[in-house]
Amino acid sequence: MALTSGLGGQLSIDLGALARNWRALDKVSAGALTGAVVKADAYGTGITVASKALHAAGARFFFVATPDEGMAVRAAVPEAHIFVMNGLYPGAANLYIRQNLMPVLCSVEMLEEWLAKCLERNEAYPSAFHFDTGINRLGFRLNEAGFVRERIEALGYAPQMLMSHLACADQPNHEKNRTQLALFGSVMTQFQGIPASLANSAGLMSGRDYHFQMVRPGISLYGGRALVGRKNPMAAVVTLHVPILQVKEARTGETVGYGAGYSLSRDSRLAIISHGYADGFFRSLSATNSRPGGKVAIRGKLFPVIGRVSMDQVVVDITELGPDIPKPGEGAEVLGANISVDDQGDAAGTIGYEVLTSLKGRYNRNYVGDGNLPPA
Ligand SMILES: *Cc1c(COP(=O)(O)O)cnc(C)c1O
Repeated sequence: MALTSGLGGQLSIDLGALARNWRALDKVSAGALTGAVVKADAYGTGITVASKALHAAGARFFFVATPDEGMAVRAAVPEAHIFVMNGLYPGAANLYIRQNLMPVLCSVEMLEEWLAKCLERNEAYPSAFHFDTGINRLGFRLNEAGFVRERIEALGYAPQMLMSHLACADQPNHEKNRTQLALFGSVMTQFQGIPASLANSAGLMSGRDYHFQMVRPGISLYGGRALVGRKNPMAAVVTLHVPILQVKEARTGETVGYGAGYSLSRDSRLAIISHGYADGFFRSLSATNSRPGGKVAIRGKLFPVIGRVSMDQVVVDITELGPDIPKPGEGAEVLGANISVDDQGDAAGTIGYEVLTSLKGRYNRNYVGDGNLPPA
């Protein structure tokens, strides 16, 4: 729940950076169409506003996980082409048709339900087919390809697109990428002439071999790191500043936070910040004396979290800031120029994706950056 007073901090989402990121990726994938993955509330940035901004930047193909997300994109961008990657939810075919959503069919059950609906209405409603080339999540098994082809040939039906998903694309040298690429090629030969899509952000950055006719970037649009161990070329989209509520002096030997798991090894100055795990600041960013935790930036310098992150408060050691003591209300940067979503993810033992999709805290959302966009 955002505070309506605006006193709880500011999440700022830069739509200009989002648009620039899409265009930059579209350049890299020149020759293929560049879609936009806007599942999970557009990685926490707001599916309605983000979809409009991406459409204004040039995106025409949108990928969501669920039909509800598809409906949100349909409302935001009436002319969008929308793929629902989790497939056809049982009993939902009429809704997909009404909303003009394309299910990414990934099992024989889904295929049969969709084909039955097409026959019932005597219309070849569009869909995509997802083949599992090694991730063992959703997808037809490769040995089902023959059955699927015979089934649709008998009816004169053809999908709009063939899809698969890479398990290890964030590690470009992982041998599994080549294996999946080869297996996807073998699927494509069984469905001649159907456009294909394999690459997420990391696949897109791994070279042309992975592009085919459509790429499906998500995390890179939102400024997150796609490839492990490489410099992230994308522009940051999200910044989050939250207020310092109190600054206090504490003595050597005193402990900080629940569990008393951090004791001060020197007289220290502490800033108590209005932010906690209920705001998406993971409890795994807590610090003990033997294990460092997360960081926040104050006046452009990084300071360590000490003690446990609690629901509504986090404590940072600002002793090194010196004598110019912050006043209550001064902002602390949780995400921004000094701390990326990936820095915060690394410190928390997770990934930038989870940091972004956890941006549901008690702060205001503020969209900045592109005066040309239609209003939200
Ligand atoms: C989430 C997802 C994507 C986008 O992945 P990123 O790593 O965020 O670029 C693409 N395809 C599928 C099937 C997905 O589930």
